[in-house]
Amino acid sequence: MAYSMDLSGRVAFVTGASSGLGAQFARTLSRAGAAVVLASRRIEKLKDLRAQIDGEGGDAHVLELDVTDIDSIKSAVAHAETEVGSIDILVNNAGVSTSQRIQEVSEDDYDYVFGTNVKGAFFVAQEVGKRMLARAKGAAPGNYTGGRIVNIASMAGLRVLPQIGVYCMSKAAVVQMTKAMALEWGKFGINVNAICPGYIDTEINHHHWKTEQGKKLVQMLPRKRVGQPKDLDALLVMLCSDESHFINGAVIAADDGFGA
Ligand code: NAD
Repeated sequence: MAYSMDLSGRVAFVTGASSGLGAQFARTLSRAGAAVVLASRRIEKLKDLRAQIDGEGGDAHVLELDVTDIDSIKSAVAHAETEVGSIDILVNNAGVSTSQRIQEVSEDDYDYVFGTNVKGAFFVAQEVGKRMLARAKGAAPGNYTGGRIVNIASMAGLRVLPQIGVYCMSKAAVVQMTKAMALEWGKFGINVNAICPGYIDTEINHHHWKTEQGKKLVQMLPRKRVGQPKDLDALLVMLCSDESHFINGAVIAADDGFGA
């Protein structure tokens, strides 16, 4: 018999689902059986993705979300729970990057990156986590199947890279946030883990791979290649599944060996 992981009956909330990894994560969780809530700012893109997922026989819902706005977070999470059901899985994926040398970073650059990647990710996880905690505490023993939070950090949170210092700092914060949440929430059946992707070809960096600098960078990678969003599918599904109940506070690199 083949080994499989089934997310049927689960509700997954994916932030930044309008492009790149978030869109792929949503498609993958749907294929694994979960109902998916697509949350981001670009509603039209989310509607296209919903149509794709529905076309494959999945169950997708669109919600507007700006992770830099606490009211927007509270409203999106509340709507998801009323319209779709209690959130079992959060993929905390929305993120931004800027590139400049340290001495050129402006206050706006800093606030933009930290406001989305750190403050935004924290309050999304807090809002979803509070509801998971309430369910865990209200459930009769044995009735709560557990929550899964997957924070999308980066290998840039584990090793610094030139010209994206503030991004590296923000993702290092996501790594520590993951461990802090895992420590406090693990006893309630909520597992919080982080994926640290290496270079994956998405909107955030697509233009870069065509530049001379980008081509040079690829030549420096262990296997001289960038990944595709689907390369994270197996890890994501595993971390979202019941089978990962013994994995909590883990920070897992999926970077083709770049950080080794
Ligand atoms: P992307 O630019 O395609 O996706 C980022 C998503 O976040 C977009 O859907 C965007 O609309 C959304 N977003 C940005 N600000 C938001 C806000 N304020 N509110 C709601 N949504 C917002 O890039 P991606 O590569 O898919 O990135 C996804 C995540 O993966 C990010 O956290 C990124 O830092 C991380 N990551 C990417 C790579 C890579 O090489 N692509 C590597 C490591 C980590």
